[in-house]
Amino acid sequence: MRKYKHIFFDLDRTLWDFEKNSEETFKDLYLIYNIEQLLNCDFDSFFKTYKKHNTLLWEEYRNKKIIKEFLSVQRFFATLNDFDNYDLELAKKMAENYLILSPQKNLLFPHAIETLEYLKDKYQLHIITNGFIEVQYKKIKNSGIEKFFNQTITSEEAGVQKPDKYIFEFSLNKVNASPEECIMIGDDLKIDILGAKNAGIDQIFFNVDNVKHNENITFEIDSLKQIIEIFN
Ligand SMILES: [Mg+2]
Repeated sequence: MRKYKHIFFDLDRTLWDFEKNSEETFKDLYLIYNIEQLLNCDFDSFFKTYKKHNTLLWEEYRNKKIIKEFLSVQRFFATLNDFDNYDLELAKKMAENYLILSPQKNLLFPHAIETLEYLKDKYQLHIITNGFIEVQYKKIKNSGIEKFFNQTITSEEAGVQKPDKYIFEFSLNKVNASPEECIMIGDDLKIDILGAKNAGIDQIFFNVDNVKHNENITFEIDSLKQIIEIFN
């Protein structure tokens, strides 16, 4: 086994429970804007429609086809449009409120804290995340995991998103490490795992949904607790 000194963590869906926190935020928005009456739809269809647009728009944002400000509002505007509502001002308000409310949610994946506690004195821990700077830093702070990390690298700061090799090189530079001393933990096969591999960094695939694949990955886990066994 390589002698690791640095562990890079992805944030959303690896430590911070994006799906559950996002659902909680949408329950708030659903009530605040009285969506049930306004769009005549139940919570599940509202949330499902948003997720569909959000995923597609994030892909476009990663491919540099759209900018952050457009992504932020358009995911709400497109959702409203699907229910025959074309109120752009409302979409803007919802987008703004989402960015305020979402980072206040603080549910982490099971065993996140105990795993970080175990690793913190043995390794230097860092985060590499594709999210927006102002949102990601708040999530890290509000969920109580700030103290575990030396460096947080966001795609906004690096100028490119994972899986681009450059964000990993940028991160190695920032923490002053060679690829051989590092390992990357993430939930997304393409974005985190193949991205890190392409930069010569070992990988731990947090494959919580047991996605089938044929990739050769350093380690694969379905619970964060297994990280402790790997580094034991
Ligand atoms: Mg992730």
